[in-house]
Amino acid sequence: MAGYGAVGLTLGRMPMQKKTHIVTLSFDDGFKKSFYKTAEIFEQFGLHACLNVIAAASLPEKRSTLSGATDVGVVPTDKGTFEDWNKLKRRGHEVMAHTWDHTNLTEIPFEQAKEHITKCAEAFETHLRGFKASKSVYNFAYNASNAELDAFVLTKFLVVRTQGVTPVNPIPTTRKPVRIGCWSQGPGNCDAFFDEALAKFLASEGGWFVFNTHGLDDEGWGPMSSKYLISLLDRLTKMKHVEVLPAGQVVLRLHG
Ligand SMILES: [Zn+2]
Repeated sequence: MAGYGAVGLTLGRMPMQKKTHIVTLSFDDGFKKSFYKTAEIFEQFGLHACLNVIAAASLPEKRSTLSGATDVGVVPTDKGTFEDWNKLKRRGHEVMAHTWDHTNLTEIPFEQAKEHITKCAEAFETHLRGFKASKSVYNFAYNASNAELDAFVLTKFLVVRTQGVTPVNPIPTTRKPVRIGCWSQGPGNCDAFFDEALAKFLASEGGWFVFNTHGLDDEGWGPMSSKYLISLLDRLTKMKHVEVLPAGQVVLRLHG
């Protein structure tokens, strides 16, 4: 009996495989066709996509006021609306803020930038069901920010995503506001660049790898191919030490 007990005790103490590597694919700009397709692909693997949309482009009545309509991030004709984003959110996907109107906030006066950020938070809280800026991610347009802008965003949002020196961040362990650094690659397809950066990360001791991409296949700046995305998620979900999570989820799960 003593032997049985010892075996039982040993099995009971077997540790869960520790998740040392978190991978976040952060999709920007709110392309209607690509975002529905991205959501479907993530669902095939039991995962939630990380989708970031532009407030004014998601409001049909505001689209005519958008500046820079030739910018691939802003051109509003191929964008979904908050109705689409509410549908995808109900399916469990994460929908977060990617600015009021895609202005590069480092190129306008700080006071004006603050107005953009405030307006963005208000628009999302009004139009996206269940959205609270204080529990959400703000994703800068062009990943362009500075310390002053990051600090202001973090008075309203829980997490800020901007350009990183490296795409690898420490895994957050406290409920404090978080600044995420990410990488992106464009204007052409980003599969090969992403694959190389990810391989280096997977060979490392771990952390939180955040890569910012946009549409799928031919849509948007620096798109990923849907074929590559499917093979990637297939590979990552088979790795016991890897988690694929939306950015907000990595921080919000600490909040219980
Ligand atoms: Zn963008």
